[in-house]
Amino acid sequence: MSEVAIGIDIGGTEIKYGLVTPRGEVRHAGAVGTEVVAAREGVQRGLREVLASCRRHAELKGLEITALGMGIPGTVTGRRGTMLMTPPQIQGLKGWETGTYLRRLARVPVAVDNDATVAGLAEARIGAGRGFETVILVTVGTGLGGALVVGGQLVRGEYGTGGEIGHAVFIPDGLPCAHGGRGCLELYTSAKALVRIYRELGGRDQDSARDIVAKAKQGQRRATRALGEIGRNLGLGVSALANVVAPDLVVVGGGLSAAGRLLIAPARESFKEQCLPYASKGVRWVRARLGNKAGLIGAALLGIEEGV
Ligand SMILES: [Zn+2]
Repeated sequence: MSEVAIGIDIGGTEIKYGLVTPRGEVRHAGAVGTEVVAAREGVQRGLREVLASCRRHAELKGLEITALGMGIPGTVTGRRGTMLMTPPQIQGLKGWETGTYLRRLARVPVAVDNDATVAGLAEARIGAGRGFETVILVTVGTGLGGALVVGGQLVRGEYGTGGEIGHAVFIPDGLPCAHGGRGCLELYTSAKALVRIYRELGGRDQDSARDIVAKAKQGQRRATRALGEIGRNLGLGVSALANVVAPDLVVVGGGLSAAGRLLIAPARESFKEQCLPYASKGVRWVRARLGNKAGLIGAALLGIEEGV
């Protein structure tokens, strides 16, 4: 019987999940939709659905579920997976012992960590970062997620906050951030920031980040300029960290990475301008390889490696 782990990726709009082999191959994947992910009860209902689906599939295909891992937005800690800080997009999670809950539900070893951290783990182990010593990973989506690999090890910290480049100061006393500080990089490099900057340039109020990327690809100037500004901000933000850790590679994932070189070319340019000459020398910028499955794959790998 071949062994698999359940990987779960909790997002603001859905729960993605899959059965994943120890080598990171996805055998079965699905998602539970938005309406059930509104609050703690909704998340728990979603998780029970996920478990049922995974068990059905495993039985059908003769797979043995040996571990479970989960990535969740916010700050989560310890064996019990206690939620210390909760994301604004899901209400009522504070204090919830996610690990204890999942262990009781699944009856296999369980590990839980921050969503950007587990996505970073997947890219570092089997994705674009594989084989590199020091890697900065950024996820440019609704917000700006980050993960950092130094000397082949994911920098996590006791509370999973390691590598959170999205909350590095970008503009002193700038826009207020949900975490309580001001001027965080993610307020200037994210889908939300793209929409704001595009509107400031006179773009249509109704256009979403996805619309803006599509327009930029068709060559619309306003959209290209807005995306260029997001890219420049990203490059400057990453350069601050690069001057500290001297990376071999920068991996860009998340929804906005679909913009490809329209985002990455200006990022690379401002990165080079601001880096110490030998901190940026030979540093490649590449797109993440695992797409929106990085979270669930990383969660499963975490469950296999560290589940208790
Ligand atoms: Zn912040």
